[in-house]
Amino acid sequence: MLFLDEAPEFSVAALEALRQPLEEGVVRISRSRAEVVYPARTQLVLAANPCPCAKPGGDQHCECAPVARRRYLSRLSGPLLDRVDLRVMLDPVRPAALLGEHDGESSEVVAARVVRRQRPDGRGGRPPGRRGEGPAEPIGRSVALSTYR
Ligand SMILES: [Zn+2]
Repeated sequence: MLFLDEAPEFSVAALEALRQPLEEGVVRISRSRAEVVYPARTQLVLAANPCPCAKPGGDQHCECAPVARRRYLSRLSGPLLDRVDLRVMLDPVRPAALLGEHDGESSEVVAARVVRRQRPDGRGGRPPGRRGEGPAEPIGRSVALSTYR
């Protein structure tokens, strides 16, 4: 897995260089006398704030000009985003929600699920593949999909 936090902060050249390996699953380094091909199957996860200031508390505290917000996210080009299967907008988390009681699963329950998933006999399920290799049906069963804002 390749995780790029604050993805728009990377150079456009670096971001665009990801397109070919994401599409082909290999990295090609070509010189005048030879070409070397390395395996590069990966899952890409991009994280980005909606604007350069990334003020805690979300958009209502943002002081960025609209043009700065558009320019910031436009660093993630359409062709690069075409290679991203899921886009999830997350609302800011209130500190009280982090510190308060919650109904989530315990760490023990999650750890047991991870161990089942990693069983060598394969009965825990197939490990996730790269973009476009997995069936869509389990995602639709597990995640309520909505339109991208
Ligand atoms: Zn801002």
